[in-house]
Amino acid sequence: MAKRDYYDVLGVSKTATDDEIKKAYRKIAIKYHPDKNPGDKEAEEKFKEAAEAYDVLHDANKRQQYDQFGFDAPGGGSGFGGFGGGSSFSMDDIFSMFGDVFGGHGGGFGGFEGFGGGEQRQKPQYRGADLRIKVNLTLQEIATGVTKKFKVKKYVQCQHCHGTGAEGGSGSETCPTCHGSGVVTRTVRTMLGMMQTQSECPTCNGEGTIIKNKCKECGGSGIVKGEEVVEIKIPAGVAEGMVVNVPGKGNAGQHNGVNGNIQVYITEEPNDTFVRDGNDVIYNLLLDFPTAVLGGTVEVPTIDGGKVKIKIDAGTQPGKTLRLRGKGLPSVQGYGNGTGDLVVNISVYIPKELSSSEKKAIESFRDSDNFKGDKETKKSIFDRFKNYFN
Ligand SMILES: [Zn+2]
Ligand SMILES: [Zn+2]
Repeated sequence: MAKRDYYDVLGVSKTATDDEIKKAYRKIAIKYHPDKNPGDKEAEEKFKEAAEAYDVLHDANKRQQYDQFGFDAPGGGSGFGGFGGGSSFSMDDIFSMFGDVFGGHGGGFGGFEGFGGGEQRQKPQYRGADLRIKVNLTLQEIATGVTKKFKVKKYVQCQHCHGTGAEGGSGSETCPTCHGSGVVTRTVRTMLGMMQTQSECPTCNGEGTIIKNKCKECGGSGIVKGEEVVEIKIPAGVAEGMVVNVPGKGNAGQHNGVNGNIQVYITEEPNDTFVRDGNDVIYNLLLDFPTAVLGGTVEVPTIDGGKVKIKIDAGTQPGKTLRLRGKGLPSVQGYGNGTGDLVVNISVYIPKELSSSEKKAIESFRDSDNFKGDKETKKSIFDRFKNYFN
């Protein structure tokens, strides 16, 4: 579903005053409050939508960012999905660059850390939103581990104000709403009578101070859109669906806060030579008929791009499996059972076209008992067949 414009959601004009926004939100919130509409999904959605719109529009910083960037504003949801490709880097698909939609404390800028409750209130510290990157790896890259470079579009510290959000070092002053405490006390009417609730001050987001003159580059947030080339080391042995966390490389936090992380989602590129089975790697070897009968040596590819010679015994049957210990994938984060093996599944090629002399040679074996198949082999084929269905 497309996101509706926040002003439309609240039914106010772009020039609405704080008071008008507050009133409009209150009206919607009361109408669609979940307590009043139990089990009504649509009401719940409307309630959430209004809360999100209010969260942005009642906050001067966020409102300015929203007016400027729309949903592209920091943390403004899915609007930043379109990055990726077209660069000189080994660029993989980068998705949802700018984190989650206005979740939790501190809204869409990623939230606070070190938020002390109770009497000993600490100044909250902003945390930048995490970034998610998808990286598609070849089996060879997985076998050896790989370092990849990404050009990442993200929020970085505003150079103009050095992340403080204040224009020209104008500094900050005590918040007029909460007088520096960072919390506001409200008296609300409930079924049990009048109750006092404490919540984070909406003017200063609990910081207790506000910036005198907001930086004109970043609107006071201390962060701006930018990009950075990030080198990410992916350990050997990772598998489809794993997530590698890279701490501190995500979006910068507002007001020189803590950086978010980058989460790297691993996908595997299909391989036309090998099939992966946990940390084992399966190779299907098509053996020529004379080598299967007489024995010999053949070359088998390995996952590091090399080759290894293996000995084939005389009388090797199709379906035989050879296991080359430790030639599979290394183990990572306890995945699989230690280093895997290279498993060679043998098939035998029966020629389809023969010259007349070849035909003659084979024909001479037709009546030989040696070509009929012995009891032991028949039994082993039967057993394999039985196990297949058990
Ligand atoms: Zn700035
Ligand atoms: Zn305040």
